[in-house]
Amino acid sequence: MSDWQKILHESVDTLDKLADRYGSDVIDVDALQPAFDNFQMRLTPNVLSTIKEIGDPMWQQYVPTVQELDIVDGVIDSLDEDGDSPVPNITHRYPDRALFLVSPVCASYCRFCTRRRKVGDPEKIPLNQFESAFQYLREHTEIRDVIMSGGDPMMLSDRRLEYFFQRLREIPHIEIIRLGSRITSHLPSRITPEFCEMVKKYHPIYMNTHFNHPAELTPESIAALGRLADAGVPLGCQTVLLRGVNDDPQIMKELMQKLLKARVRPYYIYMADQVAGGEHFRTNVEKGLEIVKALRGWTSGLAVPHFVIDAPGGGGKVPLLPEYVEEINEDEVVFRNYAGERYVYKQPRQPAIAVAGCGDAAAAESDIVPIQVGKKPKPRKKPVARKRKTGT
Ligand code: SF4
Repeated sequence: MSDWQKILHESVDTLDKLADRYGSDVIDVDALQPAFDNFQMRLTPNVLSTIKEIGDPMWQQYVPTVQELDIVDGVIDSLDEDGDSPVPNITHRYPDRALFLVSPVCASYCRFCTRRRKVGDPEKIPLNQFESAFQYLREHTEIRDVIMSGGDPMMLSDRRLEYFFQRLREIPHIEIIRLGSRITSHLPSRITPEFCEMVKKYHPIYMNTHFNHPAELTPESIAALGRLADAGVPLGCQTVLLRGVNDDPQIMKELMQKLLKARVRPYYIYMADQVAGGEHFRTNVEKGLEIVKALRGWTSGLAVPHFVIDAPGGGGKVPLLPEYVEEINEDEVVFRNYAGERYVYKQPRQPAIAVAGCGDAAAAESDIVPIQVGKKPKPRKKPVARKRKTGT
């Protein structure tokens, strides 16, 4: 057993163990049992180390609550991933990329998980049905980019991961392989030197990490991210906007800045999905827009991810932006900058098309006003009326 597997075994994965650790007055095992039965629980030592007090943002992400049983607008498969699944373990929604579910398990289980209907259950992400998935990927030459996910693909052994990398690299039209993984937050010791050596043979391999709160960027996590970056794995981060966890512009700003420092490019902030069991985590959309507004312009553009809603029912990711434009017409665009100051951008004028004998291209070009963003444009000189020659 490798070191990371031994560490995984030290996780808290039953309600009784949780009650032992935090007290049975805090953990009501009987009351939480239905939530646990619905979606399993596991907190790795790394996750446990980030919980500083009961009910804090880290606690909320991983400890089951009876609120998970209140289903209002929640849907089991809120993104209709199964509807876009042509063969087991593949979801093909976008034109040139496909999701490939390769692992049914995660190191820790996030209570808001969109895929909680499947994750943790090997019967629902079958490990013996990959041939039809490889065949589908081979036959669909439009697929350039495969996102290995699950569960967490980094829960597989290096041997198994290498098998997937090799099989995917045998398919010429697959250019990019991505790993969707929360392992650098849950179990950073999984990023071993051996894995880092192995992965170099199959580049380009990207990793989409998942961090929701600055407290998750422990020294161990930052070191693991560094090992991946040194191994040539470009790192992005997906963050889910969660009530009571990170629905605060200052927390999000700190998270994005810390990620960037750890060599991770923030990629998405997602609105929490309308998933059954995770509804108590949802904020309103205005909160996300407020957060993006507090990032854009106030910190490096590298630290500003796209804010998206993954459209319920399988519509895909739709980006949302705060309102900056006040007016747009054929002459100008009136907008406010990040600090709320008003500016005008002049629309380009269409130059007249020079036609031999009927126009003067140079004169038409001189009619274009230089664009001056953020400054009041100088008034254009009126053409001086030429004196008409009298002819005598
Ligand atoms: S790591 Fe990802 S797949 Fe696993 S429980 Fe968390 S959100 Fe779901």
